[in-house]
Amino acid sequence: MNPTKISRMSAAKLSVCFDMVISKNWKSHGTTTTTTTRYTCDCLPEMKKNLKYNIQLSLCNNGEQEGKITFASCACPAGKGPCGSCKHIAALCYALKEFVRLKTLFETCTSRLQTWNQPRKRKLDSQSVYEIDFSKKIYRREERNNAKPLNDPRRPSERNNDPKNVNRELLDKIKRVKPNCGFFCLLSDEKLDQNKNDIISPIKEHPVSLTDIFDRAKIIKRNLVGSDQERQNIALATKAQSNCQAWFEHRRVRITASQSKRALIKPSTSPTKAMKEILHYNNQYQRNKMKQGLKDEKKIILEYENKLDCKVSETGFVISQSHPFFGASPDGEVDGGLVEMKRIFTDGLSLKEAVCKRRICRDTCHGLVINRNHKFYYQVQQLMLCTKSSWTDLVLSDTVNLIILHVRKDKKFLSDIVPKLEKLYDNHISLELAYPRVYYGLARLSKLIN
Ligand SMILES: [Zn+2]
Repeated sequence: MNPTKISRMSAAKLSVCFDMVISKNWKSHGTTTTTTTRYTCDCLPEMKKNLKYNIQLSLCNNGEQEGKITFASCACPAGKGPCGSCKHIAALCYALKEFVRLKTLFETCTSRLQTWNQPRKRKLDSQSVYEIDFSKKIYRREERNNAKPLNDPRRPSERNNDPKNVNRELLDKIKRVKPNCGFFCLLSDEKLDQNKNDIISPIKEHPVSLTDIFDRAKIIKRNLVGSDQERQNIALATKAQSNCQAWFEHRRVRITASQSKRALIKPSTSPTKAMKEILHYNNQYQRNKMKQGLKDEKKIILEYENKLDCKVSETGFVISQSHPFFGASPDGEVDGGLVEMKRIFTDGLSLKEAVCKRRICRDTCHGLVINRNHKFYYQVQQLMLCTKSSWTDLVLSDTVNLIILHVRKDKKFLSDIVPKLEKLYDNHISLELAYPRVYYGLARLSKLIN
């Protein structure tokens, strides 16, 4: 057979031929007798991947008839012996011929890497992005000098060609929002005093023993205590309230005034749900809702100022001096007292009807009187505890009308609720802060202990 014939064969037949050899299942072992040599081999079919065809082939090995096929059979449907003539037998014949020519089992072209499409070797060194020319190159008619730089979509005033300055600005912005984020720590040369800012340091080793957790809880509670100066600084720094990160950080570890009533649960009730709310696990940052609330609040403050002809000043997060695990963010301060705004949705009722229906106050012969069992009462009392103010104006408004309830500090009421709140903080909240389990959806630690 002429080797050129192999290349003339159709692709289907060739691939069969090569499959057989690639498979290495070719166990061609000749047994020489006086007249014929017998070959057996396995051939993998082209399409049916789970089959193997056994081929038997006998060739004359001497005399005039040398090379003549005396017997051929294949397991495929077309290869019935003794005169089988299927493509698998043909493939074996071509493979034998190639074996004779090369004196070895040959590698097919499909099992080698292609050799005709060799990439050129490029000698380029790495470059900084500033050195790369991104301008569009113009070839042919126009001259290369006319190449225009890439269009800069920024306004001319914002085009800053000094990367160091840009980086500086970016890092400053990050520092304002979240100074302990990894990006800042990696890129900035500034060393932040981490321990000073963090009330809770990360747990360093596992497993943690119960004594360790109790110790940590104690340390956390101790870290809440700050000097007068520190508490004043926090109050000043958090005036932007929900617009500043520090406000969230300091609020996170304390019982805030708005959660005061929520924290007072019956001893028989599981505190897990209340804990989740106090630690803001469920709705950590409802920023959009807060934004709308803040907008309405600004409006209500203006109306209050007009009505009473006074000036309300902003306040930040105030931490109680006597009970540092309490915090409060009053809406404003006025003439030695506090102002707390509440946006009331009236649902078609008058404002007075709406506040009575929601049991915020009762309508008596002396006018509206605040309900001492409503959460707003607990909230304003805790506000006064933290700020040491003696009165609060609770302003209820539907943004059009105002109801102002003048609430005095109720020392008896506070002396009743404060020990209960402290107990909840010690028994449940500080443990969760020291070793968060509820946060990760596990049973609270205090439950496991009892
Ligand atoms: Zn066959």
